[in-house]
Amino acid sequence: MLRFERNKRELYMPVKEYQQTILIIDDAKENIVVLSRLLKSHGNIIFAQNGEEGLLSAMQSIPDLILLDISMPGLDGFEVLMHLKQSPSTADLPVIFITGIPDSDTEEKGLTLGAVDYITKPFSSAVVKARVRHQLKLQRLTRALKEANTRLTLLAMTDPLTGAHNRRYFIDMLKNEMSRARRYHHPMSLMVLDIDRFKAINDSFGHDVGDQVIIEVVKTSSEVLRKNDVFSRFGGEEFTILMPETTLEEAAQIAGRLCEKVSETQITTNDHQINFTISGGVAQLEDGDQTPEAILKRADIALYQAKQQGRNRIVVAGMNNNG
Ligand code: GH3
Ligand code: MG
Ligand code: MG
Repeated sequence: MLRFERNKRELYMPVKEYQQTILIIDDAKENIVVLSRLLKSHGNIIFAQNGEEGLLSAMQSIPDLILLDISMPGLDGFEVLMHLKQSPSTADLPVIFITGIPDSDTEEKGLTLGAVDYITKPFSSAVVKARVRHQLKLQRLTRALKEANTRLTLLAMTDPLTGAHNRRYFIDMLKNEMSRARRYHHPMSLMVLDIDRFKAINDSFGHDVGDQVIIEVVKTSSEVLRKNDVFSRFGGEEFTILMPETTLEEAAQIAGRLCEKVSETQITTNDHQINFTISGGVAQLEDGDQTPEAILKRADIALYQAKQQGRNRIVVAGMNNNG
């Protein structure tokens, strides 16, 4: 899958409905049977008959709720919970202890370790069901919140038309990369590019075709760029590329290749084959650059010169540019 396509897909994916899974960890088969029967209408039940297997199962299946026995040979319930808490993927899973130990010190220990509830045997079926339902509901809400949060984060840094990163994200990355390049005395370069005579494309073929051209430029860029380059749609028909660990000469080469590839690309509408080109300005991080704007400005001036010189070309700030 092309770079940026996943962003777009995730952005527009509907919220998943899913069946919740309850993991029962108990060394006594009869307890598993009783609990499974009791809770089978509440979700998909899986089980393990000792702590080690339970831990493994929790990591593999990431259940929505774990019912955990305390006394078990091998890893006991407390140890299982401690292990769950140590791994980021399982640390937040809700765990209810179900135990025959009706002792408040043990209960306190369980809750202190991070269990969400503590049920002692013999238990009332109705109470177990109610508590499980409550935890499952909380977990459903928590997951939905997390998902919404991830989506919002993605949305805040993504251009909806192309799925590429947006200006906000780019500036953040540029700030980070500038201080990193300084600290390690690494080179860093940047390119600003702009579609040539784009207004004319819109005027002749319509806004939708203009949008297709923008998408095509993003696609071509993602083919030319390297893994660590950061590409953004900076605004309208203007894009920026941050090239970490890249000298001005290397950046100029990459920019030249991109410029050439775009000029070889076509989009086809019902009655037209449309060619388009870009111009670009390339600049390198210099000692005096205090802010992202400083290096962006040099690249922008170079871009302006590229336009002045006839478009479909790259101008490199601080280098002799011979066409
Ligand atoms: P130059 O070669 O000097 O860059 O000329 P240009 O026509 O590309 O530049 P100008 O800045 O005059 O026009 C840019 C146009 O881009 C104007 C604006 O309507 C259009 N535009 C900006 N964002 C979008 C977009 O998301 N979709 C489309 N279709 N057009 C856009
Ligand atoms: Mg333009
Ligand atoms: Mg422009």
